[in-house]
Amino acid sequence: MSTRVDMDKIVSLCKRRGFIFQSSEIYGGLGSCWDYGPLGVELKRNIKEAWWRSMVQERDDIVGLDAAILMHPQTWQASGHLEGFIDPLVECKSCHLRWRADEGRGKNCPHCGGELTEPRLFNLMFKTFMGPVEEEASVVYLRPETAQGIFVNFSNVLACTRKKLPFGIAQIGKAFRNEITPGNFIFRTREFEQMEMEFFVKPGSDEEWLNYWLEERFNWYLRLGINQDNLRLRRHSQEELAHYARDCYDIEYLFPMGWAELEGIANRTDFDLVQHSHYSGKELSYFEEESEQRILPYIIEPSAGVDRSALAFLIDAYDEELAEGETRVVLRLSPSLAPVKVAVLPLSRNERLVPLAKEVYTQLRGSFMTQYNDSQSIGRRYRRQDEIGTPFCVTVDFLSLEDHQATIRERDTMKQIRVPIEVLKATLAAKLSGESIEVLPPGGMIWRG
Ligand code: ATP
Repeated sequence: MSTRVDMDKIVSLCKRRGFIFQSSEIYGGLGSCWDYGPLGVELKRNIKEAWWRSMVQERDDIVGLDAAILMHPQTWQASGHLEGFIDPLVECKSCHLRWRADEGRGKNCPHCGGELTEPRLFNLMFKTFMGPVEEEASVVYLRPETAQGIFVNFSNVLACTRKKLPFGIAQIGKAFRNEITPGNFIFRTREFEQMEMEFFVKPGSDEEWLNYWLEERFNWYLRLGINQDNLRLRRHSQEELAHYARDCYDIEYLFPMGWAELEGIANRTDFDLVQHSHYSGKELSYFEEESEQRILPYIIEPSAGVDRSALAFLIDAYDEELAEGETRVVLRLSPSLAPVKVAVLPLSRNERLVPLAKEVYTQLRGSFMTQYNDSQSIGRRYRRQDEIGTPFCVTVDFLSLEDHQATIRERDTMKQIRVPIEVLKATLAAKLSGESIEVLPPGGMIWRG
């Protein structure tokens, strides 16, 4: 069971160890934009890869897509975003900061205490101009969700893949929202990444598929190590439902500030295909050969945030424990998500050890994200790797020069085993895929040094 951690500790670990930095920090930062550092970029890639593997690679019924961020402006008319993607806001008459009206802040500005205006509607889409002239006719928007790129490509994908219902189209990409009250680190930002899948089903089977995806997506987080006590499903009330949804659930995570949405899973009905068909004048239906009928599929959409997932995985993995009289900080990340899988640590910088340690490093780096580190004491180096969640450290010592074996030390248990260097790669591969540390390859032994 991991320790519940406050957000400040996570933010500080992320900065100190190179997971996440504030955007444009040297200029004082840019509101609610964050940059992923050397470890953060690996974590994020691993999250996206885990999603892609389970949604596309391991399935016959889902294909991938990577649509452009900029889309024809009519897309947003059809989707309802130009009209509906608005939050009622109040503005402070003194400092002009804007706040969401539904947050029950009372009559005064939380920042300066100034008087607030009546609520006004405000569009959350970022506007820009396409081409050389900044005029109304050349306005385009940065997409506020990736889903629309999928809907407008429905016919293209159908024509080239000849998929039968039910089938899905998956996409990972950036989305932008001019959020009014961003915050809580990377929980709510103005530029973020989404992992969305639109699953097209026959009307009438939509409820069944919604239930299927609720279970699939919930279990995905559990499989990647999220503690079940920190995850729950919450059904939207009728008043809460978005304009396009018949039913919707949030997978919520217990963040330090309380339960909040990690992923939304909605039954969007045929709303999107009807709208785009109407605005584009194109037929966006599916021809069912058996019944010789045209069908407008219903859509079940699991929509997750990469950044929010990264935050949940970091929080859930964070642990502090007392080891050898000191506090040991450990990120108990699932090996598949850990930014660095293996660290190669020669016992010291001794010139006899370095060549063998470098050889081991070269052997492993082609297969796993591997780090080489020979600075500071071995104990300090283990702690540094624990703090970034590296599942295995490989130590090369003076005995290794004689017996050609190295020590593997496991992050969670701190147990050590010694294995022949020739089978190091195979052993680590087995362990990283979840095999027990007690299983030794031929010639290996429990290390008692
Ligand atoms: P919220 O109610 O928190 O604003 P939402 O219901 O508007 O979220 P959706 O439109 O359902 O969110 O987006 C799907 C997913 O995209 C969310 O579950 C979340 O993980 C992610 N997401 C949405 N907005 C943001 C944001 N501003 N910053 C980071 N991630 C976001």
